[in-house]
Amino acid sequence: MSSAEAFVRTIRDVVGDEPFVGLHIPDIAEAEKHRVRECLDSTFVSSVGSFVGEFEKGIAAFTGAAYGIAVSNGTSALQVALELAGVAPGDDVIVPALSFIATANAVSHARAQPYFVDSDEETLGLSVDAVGQVLRAARPTPEGLINAATGRRIGAVVPMHTLGHPMRIVELLQLADAFGVPVVEDAAESLGSRVGAQHTGTFGALGILSFNGNKILTTGGGGMILTDDEELALRARHLTTTAKLAHRWEFEHDEVAYNFRMPNLNAALGVAQLERLPDFLAAKRRLADRYRDAFADVADVTFLAEPGGTESNYWLCAVRAAGGLDRRDELLEATNDAGLQCRPFWNLLHLQAPYRHLPHAPTPVAEALHSSVVCIPSSPALAAV
Ligand SMILES: *Cc1c(COP(=O)(O)O)cnc(C)c1O
Repeated sequence: MSSAEAFVRTIRDVVGDEPFVGLHIPDIAEAEKHRVRECLDSTFVSSVGSFVGEFEKGIAAFTGAAYGIAVSNGTSALQVALELAGVAPGDDVIVPALSFIATANAVSHARAQPYFVDSDEETLGLSVDAVGQVLRAARPTPEGLINAATGRRIGAVVPMHTLGHPMRIVELLQLADAFGVPVVEDAAESLGSRVGAQHTGTFGALGILSFNGNKILTTGGGGMILTDDEELALRARHLTTTAKLAHRWEFEHDEVAYNFRMPNLNAALGVAQLERLPDFLAAKRRLADRYRDAFADVADVTFLAEPGGTESNYWLCAVRAAGGLDRRDELLEATNDAGLQCRPFWNLLHLQAPYRHLPHAPTPVAEALHSSVVCIPSSPALAAV
């Protein structure tokens, strides 16, 4: 049996023999249909309605954030969070080279530019050491810290909790605080992931979540800004709802702002999904445990477990395979041929067309991760197989 066949067999032992097994299928039950129908019947399907507030309060309570502001998607949440953190047009924002392109696009939408930095081998997130090198080489000025590589001000640093595994956020905060650089967490993938008892996305000045269809909880499309700061929360609400002044009938707006509010229809879906989130998290942990056991004695393949001291939501289960890009692609081909939807990591951001021209830090670890990691089927329903 070839090593690719053994790989397929190992996944099949865990997920069963359905002809097609998706990477991450949303779990929609009667409760969701009931809430969405209730919303439709109310006719409040758009920017006004009670489900948005209920969903915001529910997510805030679950994460321990003082405030949650529901918006149209994770990208718009990150754009607004960056602007509220003080990122100015022309700034650099430090982001991991290994992330979904939304992380960098949100920086661009805020009219700043991403500065790509390397990843950490264990957490898969932004390397605190590599960020430290950039900050220590930077030049302090009255306007802020000037990136030695670009001559631009460093407006913020955006760690991302990759596949749901928490990065070393406590150490990153200490470092960034010492240099006066705000931290905005891209927690799009890590709803339910914690460091100690504290939820990811609540460490930085602001954090964001995504509720896209492939995330652990979906609203169809949606996102949330998290913060403990009342003033930032009020600004976030104002900026994402066209900066309209409250009045019973007048249309008075006091600045150019966004129409980023989450529609009530999407929030209705979110309210029902949030009630089931503890079950999704438990199912994903059971699935991860079974994969870990199954891969324990497969040669040259390592299951990616949660970093020590953290609790991952195991949004996407993944393995690392020795043997470089050819071996990775051999495994992707064999699994996808066998009806197992497996995916590589995203292509590194500093190599993508919109960002190739930008200076960036060295990225040896991100390159090694990119050429060795394979994400494997992770739907919560698979835990019941
Ligand atoms: C999903 C995701 C986002 C936001 O995506 P939206 O589709 O805009 O909700 C941002 N960053 C990362 C890392 C993501 O995985």
